[in-house]
Amino acid sequence: MSNAPSLVWFRLDLRLEDNPALAAAVQRGGPVIPVYIYAPGEEYPWAPGAASDFWLHQSLCALSLSLKHKRSRLIVRHGPSLETLQMLFRETGADAIYWNRRYEPAVRRRDEAIKTALRTDGLCAESLNGALLFEPWDVLTKQGGPYQVFTPFWRACLAAEEPSDPLPTPAKLAAPESWPATEPIAALGLEPAFNWAGGIRAAWTPGEVGAANRLEAFLDDAIANYTDDRDCPAIPGTSRLSPHLHFGEIGPRQIWHAMKHALAPNATKGAEKFLPEIGWREFSHHLLYHFPQVCDEPLRAAFRNFPWAEDTRALKAWQRGQTGYPIVDAGMRELWTTGWMHNRVRMVAASFLTKDLLIPWDEGARWFWDTLVDADLANNTQGWQWTAGCGADAAPYFRIFNPVSQGEKFDPDGAYVRQWVPELAQLPAKWIHKPWDAPSAVLKEAEVALGRNYPHPIVDHSEARARALEAYKTIKNSQ
Ligand SMILES: Cc1cc2nc3c(=O)[nH]c(=O)nc-3n(C[C@H](O)[C@H](O)[C@H](O)COP(=O)(O)OP(=O)(O)OC[C@H]3O[C@@H](n4cnc5c(N)ncnc54)[C@H](O)[C@@H]3O)c2cc1C
Repeated sequence: MSNAPSLVWFRLDLRLEDNPALAAAVQRGGPVIPVYIYAPGEEYPWAPGAASDFWLHQSLCALSLSLKHKRSRLIVRHGPSLETLQMLFRETGADAIYWNRRYEPAVRRRDEAIKTALRTDGLCAESLNGALLFEPWDVLTKQGGPYQVFTPFWRACLAAEEPSDPLPTPAKLAAPESWPATEPIAALGLEPAFNWAGGIRAAWTPGEVGAANRLEAFLDDAIANYTDDRDCPAIPGTSRLSPHLHFGEIGPRQIWHAMKHALAPNATKGAEKFLPEIGWREFSHHLLYHFPQVCDEPLRAAFRNFPWAEDTRALKAWQRGQTGYPIVDAGMRELWTTGWMHNRVRMVAASFLTKDLLIPWDEGARWFWDTLVDADLANNTQGWQWTAGCGADAAPYFRIFNPVSQGEKFDPDGAYVRQWVPELAQLPAKWIHKPWDAPSAVLKEAEVALGRNYPHPIVDHSEARARALEAYKTIKNSQ
């Protein structure tokens, strides 16, 4: 037990429940000083994008309020992390700091340097696991190396010791005799200057309470049909927990526990399908940890020589949801409006960019990085490289999604397209995924004027597919 204060350095773990760093500080005894340091430059070249900043502002406000309810405070500072922490140690007389680990390469380098410097100063500096079910170094192949294929990776995870039960929210957080100064969260300038984020604000409730409510709603309404509904973008059939998980407003142990122990019998089939999705999140972090270069280059080296195209006009059309392919455009507009896109449509939109348009995967990853509220370096990199065919356990490059048949299969009555591409809302389902094939009388009746109020397709899918396969031949033999 110590009577000196402990700092708890909050980062992507913006919650009180199942927060190992917070629990360790409480257990040590003495006052607890919760701290958030805003230092986006330290994450270069992957400093959070605009949608993430928006979310972070709301989430910090929520955390600050939860701490107030515990008669505690969130101390917010802006500046280089190490120097800011050293200043806080001096100001508060604290002699220990706890934080939960992150796995992005730049953050890992920084955290290791900070831990060394603080320990050299004679302080206790400990990092803990609050973000993953299985640490990347604990799950290894028989040869002792990292996994590159999901199924054996997840099998090994399931054979390992079961993740421990989540830690409860601390009943009490002892306050220091005097609190150090804090900056107002608004001073971080995370909220956009003009209100482009109205759609995001309407769609989400950032913060720990919002995350818990989202999990509860998913368990009540969607888990039982998850297996069937998860691929249909018009149905709220998935959990939408991704931004909450990214910001650590809920931890994977809480989800694991809810799935394993708190389910009605009719939901177990859904849970069996759902837990491997959490497994994909684990796998993405495993890959990012063991292959830190993947956020900037393809895991499969042959793809460095892939003959990508440079096509700014096509890239802009894709970003704005003006490709002329309704399912792609619906996804890109859902992303722009709500900061989120359904997983099935992410795959279709990413395949369209990298294969139909031959635009490099990292251009797409950058756009998603700026616009997704769940932008996550591990998951985004893995999702893009998987779809582009250049990552671990990737869909082969020659698996090229057909945007028309994907639309017809997963949005058969066109409800998703109608919602996000209102220009096409009156088209019959038969034509909604291929308006260019509709008879002119049908288009007229539905008030669709191709080339005027909705674009002609920017490429012909069959020709684009053939072009992509030709491009692939140039690297196929060097793999
Ligand atoms: C091109 C592309 C980019 C992506 N970028 C991101 C990203 O930046 N951040 C992100 O969280 N996910 C990303 N994903 C994965 C996936 O699309 C989202 O996690 C999912 O759509 C989130 O919705 P949900 O929470 O309703 O998912 P659910 O189906 O309810 O799944 C539950 C959780 O499992 C995890 N998960 C599900 N699918 C995947 C997956 N394929 N890979 C890794 N984790 C997964 C997520 O944390 C998700 O919240 C990307 C996928 C693709 C194809």
